[in-house]
Amino acid sequence: MANVCIICEKEKSGFPVQDDYVILAIRKVKNFLRIAKNNNLVVCQDCLEVYQKKRAKYERDLAIHAIIGGFILLTMIFLPIFTTGFSLTAVFFGLLLFGLVMLLSVFSHCPKIQQTAPKEEKEAEPSNRPEPKKPSRKKKK
Ligand SMILES: [Zn+2]
Repeated sequence: MANVCIICEKEKSGFPVQDDYVILAIRKVKNFLRIAKNNNLVVCQDCLEVYQKKRAKYERDLAIHAIIGGFILLTMIFLPIFTTGFSLTAVFFGLLLFGLVMLLSVFSHCPKIQQTAPKEEKEAEPSNRPEPKKPSRKKKK
Protein backbone atom coordinates (compact mmCIF):
# COMPACT_ATOMS: atom_id res chain seq x y z
CA MET A 1 0.00 0.00 0.00
CA ALA A 2 1.26 3.43 -0.88
CA ASN A 3 1.41 6.33 1.53
CA VAL A 4 -0.44 9.25 0.03
CA CYS A 5 -0.54 12.76 1.47
CA ILE A 6 -4.12 14.02 1.83
CA ILE A 7 -3.09 17.63 1.11
CA CYS A 8 -0.74 17.46 -1.88
CA GLU A 9 -1.97 13.99 -2.95
CA LYS A 10 1.56 12.86 -3.67
CA GLU A 11 3.08 9.60 -2.57
CA LYS A 12 5.03 10.59 0.47
CA SER A 13 5.63 9.38 3.96
CA GLY A 14 4.35 11.44 6.84
CA PHE A 15 2.03 11.52 9.80
CA PRO A 16 -0.58 8.77 9.50
CA VAL A 17 -4.21 9.89 9.35
CA GLN A 18 -6.56 8.35 11.88
CA ASP A 19 -9.57 6.67 10.36
CA ASP A 20 -12.66 8.46 11.56
CA TYR A 21 -16.31 7.93 10.76
CA VAL A 22 -16.13 10.04 7.60
CA ILE A 23 -13.14 8.17 6.21
CA LEU A 24 -14.68 4.82 7.11
CA ALA A 25 -17.90 5.85 5.38
CA ILE A 26 -16.00 6.99 2.27
CA ARG A 27 -14.04 3.70 2.28
CA LYS A 28 -17.25 1.71 2.50
CA VAL A 29 -18.76 3.60 -0.42
CA LYS A 30 -15.57 3.19 -2.44
CA ASN A 31 -15.38 -0.50 -1.62
CA PHE A 32 -18.97 -0.86 -2.67
CA LEU A 33 -18.28 0.91 -5.95
CA ARG A 34 -15.01 -1.03 -6.28
CA ILE A 35 -12.99 2.14 -6.73
CA ALA A 36 -11.14 1.89 -3.42
CA LYS A 37 -7.41 2.47 -3.75
CA ASN A 38 -6.77 1.53 -0.13
CA ASN A 39 -3.87 3.89 0.20
CA ASN A 40 -2.43 4.76 3.55
CA LEU A 41 -3.48 8.33 4.13
CA VAL A 42 -0.82 10.55 5.63
CA VAL A 43 0.08 14.22 5.97
CA CYS A 44 3.61 14.85 4.78
CA GLN A 45 6.02 17.16 6.58
CA ASP A 46 5.72 19.86 3.90
CA CYS A 47 1.95 20.03 4.20
CA LEU A 48 1.77 20.00 7.98
CA GLU A 49 1.14 23.72 8.27
CA VAL A 50 -1.59 23.70 5.61
CA TYR A 51 -3.09 20.66 7.26
CA GLN A 52 -3.19 22.25 10.70
CA LYS A 53 -5.05 25.26 9.30
CA LYS A 54 -7.54 22.99 7.56
CA ARG A 55 -8.03 20.94 10.68
CA ALA A 56 -8.56 24.05 12.79
CA LYS A 57 -11.14 25.30 10.29
CA TYR A 58 -12.93 21.96 10.31
CA GLU A 59 -13.08 21.89 14.10
CA ARG A 60 -14.49 25.41 14.12
CA ASP A 61 -17.03 24.50 11.41
CA LEU A 62 -18.06 21.45 13.38
CA ALA A 63 -18.62 23.51 16.51
CA ILE A 64 -20.65 26.11 14.59
CA HIS A 65 -22.77 23.40 12.97
CA ALA A 66 -23.34 21.74 16.32
CA ILE A 67 -24.53 25.05 17.79
CA ILE A 68 -26.84 25.82 14.85
CA GLY A 69 -28.16 22.25 14.73
CA GLY A 70 -28.62 22.17 18.48
CA PHE A 71 -30.49 25.46 18.38
CA ILE A 72 -32.84 24.18 15.67
CA LEU A 73 -33.42 20.95 17.57
CA LEU A 74 -34.18 22.74 20.83
CA THR A 75 -36.54 25.11 19.03
CA MET A 76 -38.37 22.19 17.44
CA ILE A 77 -38.70 20.47 20.82
CA PHE A 78 -39.67 23.42 22.97
CA LEU A 79 -41.61 25.71 20.64
CA PRO A 80 -44.59 23.30 20.27
CA ILE A 81 -44.60 22.67 24.04
CA PHE A 82 -45.18 26.37 24.68
CA THR A 83 -47.70 26.79 21.87
CA THR A 84 -49.73 23.80 20.66
CA GLY A 85 -48.25 21.13 22.92
CA PHE A 86 -45.53 18.54 22.62
CA SER A 87 -45.15 17.30 19.07
CA LEU A 88 -43.27 14.15 18.17
CA THR A 89 -43.33 15.17 14.52
CA ALA A 90 -41.58 18.43 15.37
CA VAL A 91 -38.94 16.52 17.37
CA PHE A 92 -38.45 14.18 14.44
CA PHE A 93 -37.96 17.08 12.03
CA GLY A 94 -35.69 18.75 14.54
CA LEU A 95 -33.49 15.65 14.61
CA LEU A 96 -33.59 15.45 10.84
CA LEU A 97 -32.50 19.08 10.47
CA PHE A 98 -29.84 18.59 13.13
CA GLY A 99 -28.48 15.63 11.15
CA LEU A 100 -28.52 17.63 7.92
CA VAL A 101 -26.71 20.57 9.47
CA MET A 102 -24.06 18.22 10.89
CA LEU A 103 -23.76 16.49 7.54
CA LEU A 104 -22.87 19.80 5.90
CA SER A 105 -19.67 19.92 7.95
CA VAL A 106 -18.43 16.93 5.96
CA PHE A 107 -17.58 19.29 3.11
CA SER A 108 -14.76 20.79 5.11
CA HIS A 109 -13.86 17.45 6.64
CA CYS A 110 -10.27 17.09 7.71
CA PRO A 111 -9.28 13.97 9.65
CA LYS A 112 -7.11 13.77 12.72
CA ILE A 113 -3.53 12.67 12.37
CA GLN A 114 -1.43 10.68 14.75
CA GLN A 115 1.05 13.12 16.08
CA THR A 116 4.04 10.87 16.07
CA ALA A 117 7.09 11.12 13.89
CA PRO A 118 7.12 8.93 10.79
CA LYS A 119 8.73 5.58 11.49
CA GLU A 120 11.77 6.22 9.35
CA GLU A 121 12.65 9.38 11.24
CA LYS A 122 11.64 8.29 14.70
CA GLU A 123 15.16 7.90 16.03
CA ALA A 124 16.66 10.82 14.16
CA GLU A 125 15.26 13.88 15.89
CA PRO A 126 12.51 13.03 18.33
CA SER A 127 12.63 16.45 20.02
CA ASN A 128 12.22 18.26 16.73
CA ARG A 129 8.85 16.95 15.77
CA PRO A 130 5.90 19.34 15.77
CA GLU A 131 3.89 19.41 18.94
CA PRO A 132 0.21 18.52 18.74
CA LYS A 133 -2.13 21.46 19.00
CA LYS A 134 -4.29 19.82 21.58
CA PRO A 135 -2.22 17.85 24.07
CA SER A 136 -5.35 16.53 25.75
CA ARG A 137 -6.12 14.46 22.67
CA LYS A 138 -2.73 12.86 22.60
CA LYS A 139 -2.94 9.17 23.39
CA LYS A 140 0.31 7.75 24.50
CA LYS A 141 1.13 4.33 25.91
ZN1 LIG B 1 1.85 16.72 1.19
